[in-house]
Amino acid sequence: MLTGKIALVTGASRGIGRQTAITLARYGATVVINYNGAKERAEETAALIQEMGGRAVCYGCNVADYKAVETMMKEIVTQHGALDILVNNAGVTKDGLLLKMSEEDYDTVVDVNLKGTFHCIRHSARQMVKQRYGRIVNLSSVVGVYGNAGQVNYSASKAGIVGITKSAAKELGSRGITVNAVAPGFIVTEMTDAMPEDAKKQVTDRIAMKRLGRTEDVAELVAFLASDLAAYITGQVICVDGGMSI
Ligand code: NAP
Repeated sequence: MLTGKIALVTGASRGIGRQTAITLARYGATVVINYNGAKERAEETAALIQEMGGRAVCYGCNVADYKAVETMMKEIVTQHGALDILVNNAGVTKDGLLLKMSEEDYDTVVDVNLKGTFHCIRHSARQMVKQRYGRIVNLSSVVGVYGNAGQVNYSASKAGIVGITKSAAKELGSRGITVNAVAPGFIVTEMTDAMPEDAKKQVTDRIAMKRLGRTEDVAELVAFLASDLAAYITGQVICVDGGMSI
């Protein structure tokens, strides 16, 4: 499904990003595994892909850094000759109630999640326009669509990603580039591990499928949107939440 494609997955050292990198590689893509601090864990992702006969390389870069992202994109194109698929997955949380939230915690989350997404699209779009081909998939969240107490920074960043997705889809559609967003509900990763068990149970009770999500549930949708099977789908926000938001 993705044979011959060059894909970049940001924040692929663990969680949804790791599973997405593995899934894209399983469908035939060569995957660049981006990470910020966790080099060893990114290398673990690459090793998992190589063990199953796939192709992967690692690239450390803070997506919140405009210049560093520009350099990363240039080096990917120099090394691989193309960039076909961009998955903007890197994300952080710094939860807290609005009345107590510091400016720093607000800025950090928006800088990584929202500006990071902008930086990656900004610096890969020219290459995709030149190719007349591109697939961009952004990780939003149901929280960006519906809001969540204790997450004004995170939900602002994820709502902003919806806006970027729709606007970029309108700008880039005529060049053969699709831009979509995936909005996961509650997926079991290190990001959600810290939540107390009783809170997880309360969330599960609100989910129609009566279970928390798996990284595979998200990664398969990302792979579909990154493929030619989804060539006529753009500007969409698709929830992967087991029915949590209905
Ligand atoms: P996770 O387990 O915490 O992993 C986050 C990944 O992002 C790590 O690989 C981390 O790499 C990377 N990262 C963080 N800051 C970065 C930066 N500045 N530059 C580059 N990479 C950076 O998170 P997850 O649960 O898999 O979530 C992945 C995405 O899905 C996020 O955008 C998240 O908001 C979204 N999402 C998750 C859920 C959920 O329930 N888990 C729900 C909705 C949406 P390093 O360790 O190397 O920094």
